[in-house]
Amino acid sequence: MLPQEIVRKKREGEVLSKEEIQFFVKGITDNSVTEGQVAALAMAVFFQGLSVDERVALTLGMRDSGDVLDWSDIGAPVVDKHSTGGVGDNVSLMLAPALAANGAAVPMISGRGLGHTGGTLDKLETIPGYSAKPSNELFRKVVREVGCAIIGQTGDLAPADKRFYGIRDVTATVESIDLITASILSKKLAAGLETLVLDVKWGTGAFMANYEDAKALAESLVLVANGAGLKTTALLTDMNESLASAAGNAIEVQNAADFLKGTHIDNRLWDVTVAIGAEGLATSGLADSVDDGKKKMEEAFTSGKAAELFGKMVSELGGPGDFMEKPEAYLARAPIQRAVHMPGSCLVTGVDARAVGLAVVELGGGRRAAADEIDPAVGLTDIAGVGTSVDSDTPIVVIHARTEDQVERAEKVLRDAYTFGSASDVKEFDTIRDRIAP
Ligand code: URA
Repeated sequence: MLPQEIVRKKREGEVLSKEEIQFFVKGITDNSVTEGQVAALAMAVFFQGLSVDERVALTLGMRDSGDVLDWSDIGAPVVDKHSTGGVGDNVSLMLAPALAANGAAVPMISGRGLGHTGGTLDKLETIPGYSAKPSNELFRKVVREVGCAIIGQTGDLAPADKRFYGIRDVTATVESIDLITASILSKKLAAGLETLVLDVKWGTGAFMANYEDAKALAESLVLVANGAGLKTTALLTDMNESLASAAGNAIEVQNAADFLKGTHIDNRLWDVTVAIGAEGLATSGLADSVDDGKKKMEEAFTSGKAAELFGKMVSELGGPGDFMEKPEAYLARAPIQRAVHMPGSCLVTGVDARAVGLAVVELGGGRRAAADEIDPAVGLTDIAGVGTSVDSDTPIVVIHARTEDQVERAEKVLRDAYTFGSASDVKEFDTIRDRIAP
């Protein structure tokens, strides 16, 4: 087979065979297919698309390009979620222990933040001692004994996707639903999951701002995941404002600890976390139905069991043994906390969630380039949601910064992000707008 003939075939809109896709993926992995050929195929797919069978073949080919984890000895359904990324989205921190409290095994492999969206790994690394890169033995031990372990990628999962994604990133071919589908699912399948719940976000702070695009991605992901043998449902959730009232790294860990302890719970965050968990429990057979799953998730939080397991996970992965008793004693705090007020009383009618995420980057809490260091302490709290009345007592946000210069820059971005008006102008969306099942 010749790579250029495969590119030519796709360029002409023909359907590639499983063997041709496997051959090309092998070439991506061992570098026998050149960067130019990979880029050309990506562009051909961008314009001509892939059938469901082609997407499944690409997904499975990329899954098999490296290690595939095997949890068959774990004795519990292996469940995880994937979010397309958002602002103030610390769902994973509460979800993993709540699923574990209900009998799931949750080997959660998460990523770092890039651009305006945060990353679970950056958040957890703000806990002193927490090892996000444990040995394979420790990772397995924690999943077996605690039920969940949230870590960064270890080993060599889906290396073909790594190279393919890197080339797509610099050739304007990331925004292909077919390629995004294979990219996301190849990594999830390589992690050895049995059940997956997708949180596909739409709105100003989401990877896909447009609802129809997000829905098309969710449908493609559910179709291909199930076609590749991974039981999957998806929720389409609102990212037109920050999900939590907090955004930043240590700040979101504190928000998660408060949620787990029941001392402060953001409503939209609760709804999304419970709904995703309910899907995971129902699909994996740990709950009789999604409604039963919701009850079980709520119980994991109200009983304190999820909080207990989170604390245990932190301690087993090298963090403080008493983290959940006094998280504030361990989490870094920025030297400046500045509330941003409007001059009079105003009703929040809309927020540009992307700008809120960019304000965190402006403060040093996110990356401009993949190699950048992040500041764990900076970020935002008390983020006023749509429909909130703000005044001289209630700020639109509290900025946590290291320097006055940062405060000034973030404040400008945030003031521009908010729109105000009367009740009839309020742009509120259902937190969970749709559910996609196979
Ligand atoms: N996230 C991924 O993992 N892959 C893509 O292609 C796009 C977003």
